[in-house]
This record gives sequence, C-alpha cells and structure tokens, in this order.
Amino acid sequence: MAERSYDFLMPSVNFFGPGVIHKVGERAKILGMKKPVIVTDKFLETMKDGAVQQALQSLTDAGVDYVIYNGVEPNPKIRNIQEVKKLYLESGADSIITIGGGSAHDTGKGAGIILTNGDDITKLAGIETLDNALPPLIAVNTTAGTGSELTRHAVITNEQTHLKFVVVSWRNIPLVSFNDPTLMLDVPPALTAATGMDAFVQAIEPYVSVDRNPITDAQCIQAIQLIEGSLREAVANGHNLDARTKMVEAEMLAGMAFNNANLGYVHAMAHQLGGQYDAPHGVCCALLLPYVEQYNIIACPERFAELADIMGENTTGLSTRDAAELAIKAMKQMSEDVGIPKSIKDIGAKPEDFELMAENALKDGNAFSNPRKGTKQDIIDIFQAAYDAE
Ligand code: NAD
Repeated sequence: MAERSYDFLMPSVNFFGPGVIHKVGERAKILGMKKPVIVTDKFLETMKDGAVQQALQSLTDAGVDYVIYNGVEPNPKIRNIQEVKKLYLESGADSIITIGGGSAHDTGKGAGIILTNGDDITKLAGIETLDNALPPLIAVNTTAGTGSELTRHAVITNEQTHLKFVVVSWRNIPLVSFNDPTLMLDVPPALTAATGMDAFVQAIEPYVSVDRNPITDAQCIQAIQLIEGSLREAVANGHNLDARTKMVEAEMLAGMAFNNANLGYVHAMAHQLGGQYDAPHGVCCALLLPYVEQYNIIACPERFAELADIMGENTTGLSTRDAAELAIKAMKQMSEDVGIPKSIKDIGAKPEDFELMAENALKDGNAFSNPRKGTKQDIIDIFQAAYDAE
C-alpha cells in the first residue's frame, strides 16, 4: 500500500435527489439523443407514475423520440442483450436509456458492448477488453443498490452454461446517472433488504481490497455508516424518504468505491450462486459475506477491527483480533435484522456444485482484489460454511 497510482472513474454527471427524474429529457437532448432505446422490464414499464412513465413524459416534453425494450430479466442473460441490439438496429435508435436496477443497467451496457465491440460478449469477459465506445448511455436508477448506474462493470449470465461473467471497462460507464429516492419508496421490504445488503457488501469489500486507496476508504466509511443508520428503517417503512435518501447516497458512495478499489471473493462467489441458481444477487452476497470475511481476517485484522468501529460496535479494550471478530458478528446481525435467510441452502445451493463454482469463482474478475489469496479448496470450504449456517 505504500506506493500507489490509480485512475478514479465515475460518470461525469450524476443527478441526485427527489424529483431529478424530470430532468431526463433535458439531459438526453443535451447529449444529442434523438431516439434512445429505453431498457427496462414490464413491471416497471406499467408501474403507475413510476420511473418509466415519468422518464417517458420528460422525454416527450423535451421532444425526444424513443422505443421501448421491456424484456429485462433479473441476472440479465445474453438473450436480453441480443434482443436490445436487434431492436436498436431495426428501429434506427442512436442511444440507450436504462431504467431500473442493476439488471436494466447491465442489459443496456451489454447491448452497447455488442453493438460496437463484436457480437460475442463471452470473448470480452475480463478487465479493459473493449476497444470501442458504447452508444451514449444514460442510467436512471431505481434500486439502492448495485451502483451499476455509475460503474464500469457489466454483469451478464450465459444462459447456456449458467456462468455469470463480468466485462469491466471504463467504456461501460454511463455518461449520466440519475438517482431519485422518490422512485424507491414502493420497493418492497425483501427487495429493499437484498439490494441494501448488496450496497453494504460493496462498501465492505473495497475497504479490505488490495486496490483500496484513501479516497475509496472515505467513501466506504461514509457508505457503511449511512447503511447502518438507514437500511433497517428503509426495510421497516419503505415510505421513510430520509432512510431512502440515505440508502441512495450510500449505494452511490459504495458504487464509486468499488468502481475504483474493486471487490473480492464475496462477489466472485455470489456470481456463481446467481448464475447457477438464478438467485437475487444481493441475497447471494449477504449469505456469503460473513464467511468470506471470516476467512479474510488474517490478511488485514486491523482493517476488520476498524470496520467494527465504523459499524458502531464498542471495541474499547478489545484486542485487534477480538474487534475484528466483532465486525463479522455485526455483519451477521445486519443480515438477520433485515430478514435475509441464513444458509445458501435456502436459495437452492447444492454441495455437488461447489467444486465447479469454486473453480469459476477464482477466475471471476472480482477475485483478484481479495485481500487473502485462496485455493480452490478454500473457496469450497467457504461455500460449505455458508451452506452449514443455521
Ligand atoms: P434487479 O435490477 O434485478 O431488479 C430486481 C427486481 O426489482 C425486478 O423485478 C424489478 O422490476 C424490481 N424493481 C426495480 N426497481 C424497482 C422499484 N423502484 N420498485 C419496485 N420494484 C422495482 O435488482 P438489482 O439488485 O438492482 O440488480 C441486480 C443485478 O445487478 C444482478 O444481476 C447483479 O449481478 C448486478 N450487479 C451489477 C453491478 C454493476 O456494477 N454492474 C454491481 C452489482 C450488481
């Protein structure tokens, strides 16, 4: 950590706050968008006065035409990005506006990737593999959340192999992000919990990542404190605008942090659970978090002891190791409070799949920044611990 150099990446314009959804049309016009493909799902498209209807009104007011793709699936598949590409080409579109959570943004990014970088996205998995710019992209975010509206990651599932893979490139970063907490007031408790736990993990993994730096540390600390102070409230009462606002600020901070300091084994392994069992990403992350971080403690116990303090635990008089253990306990408590299940059994995980999933997790782009370097057997053991959890 003594010597470092890094780029710091995020979209150039980020709209935040109640009501910013009304600026989508104006911003699309400023970017010269004449006919964007709106990338979303049927549920969000038909939600009365929801994000899609408000964004479409704003585009109409600004005189911007559009076509709609409403086929986004959770854990977006290669077929989704191919369908968007087809619609884009057939309709004479010139840009993309994603409206939804991480799945919508990643579908839009994936389509953009194959429109300008070649049709076979599986060949582009990895880090900085893209030669060409994507079509202009605006991301309107409706979950808090993945941070995908800000990040250089596109996470896609190969429906043939059940492998979830990541294309990481600065070219994937949307030109503009929108985060309007009023769009999240009706997110149901289980989805609030799952997406909020994703943001929590995305603030913890960069804090112990080998690629961390003082800027990402500051973002992680603030994000964790905001989540500690608001996720339980947002789950308990979705219409608490203050809690929703803090969760959006937290997910943005965590997104910026991991966009630059990267993640770790929680995400590398969660992608295997998501690809194999089509389970919600935030739940996969939450189920693995304490077991991965328990394994990681010996790599940087002092960082975990700091995490306990950041999460508001009383570490006075404790040894570094004991304080670090308290951080793991606090992670479990957060999951339990917001109603995440206990074991990866609960999302259909099977021990006979652990070996292949462990092999693939070690190849996932997120594995390289984990603070402790594991073997395949280590990863199998972590899956087993998360399976045996009661
Ligand atoms: P999601 O986008 O899959 O959405 C889940 C469900 O929530 C959908 O059915 C959707 O219709 C519904 N929904 C979305 N917004 C809503 C709202 N405001 N009100 C009510 N319902 C709403 O969920 P997600 O957790 O945001 O995204 C998960 C995906 O993002 C995973 O595939 C994950 O791997 C990926 N991800 C990407 C990045 C990245 O940087 N690219 C980071 C983390 C995760």
